[in-house]
Amino acid sequence: MTDLSVYKGDITELSVGAIVNAANSALAGGSGVDGAIHRAGGPAIVADCKAVIARRGPCEPGDAVVTGAGELPAGIVIHTVGPIWTSDAADEHDKTLAKCYGAALDLALKHRAKEVAFPNISTGAYGFPKPRAAVVAINAILDWLENNAAHDLNEIVFVCFDDENHELYESLLGW
Ligand code: ADP
Repeated sequence: MTDLSVYKGDITELSVGAIVNAANSALAGGSGVDGAIHRAGGPAIVADCKAVIARRGPCEPGDAVVTGAGELPAGIVIHTVGPIWTSDAADEHDKTLAKCYGAALDLALKHRAKEVAFPNISTGAYGFPKPRAAVVAINAILDWLENNAAHDLNEIVFVCFDDENHELYESLLGW
């Protein structure tokens, strides 16, 4: 059984097997959770991101890649690129956002992480409506768990930084 939990606070402080970053296609760092991870992780994460980009080119929305965690207490960082919200392609953005969660969990499994902490991908600068993103995120994770019966993840943490997301996840998960 995998525990699903909700944590309110800063993802960079978590000592878990893997934290997920809501990155941009260039893995260049930026604002929000991405900036926080790059700042707290230090230059090793920047160097790893540059090496990943040099090897495979930009990371498309829905894709995920792994780097070390530099000075962070987490084991690895999984960078995934969420969709930028536009109301004219809502269904497509839902699919891309769901793909981010699945791709990140695939990599967590591959790298033997036992706990994975997710931020609320795309709900900051990328403008995805928070209630809609929360439903997509939870369903994507439940689908992945159902379709990957052989995994050995102990815990998936939804890290909520703002009050609206925190309340949404607590109510959707029934706590
Ligand atoms: P995106 O570009 O994918 O929208 P953002 O970083 O702007 O990414 O926002 C994604 C979510 O991350 C937002 O809900 C924001 O409140 C949250 N966030 C910002 N800083 C942190 C942090 N240090 N830890 C966890 N979540 C954070």
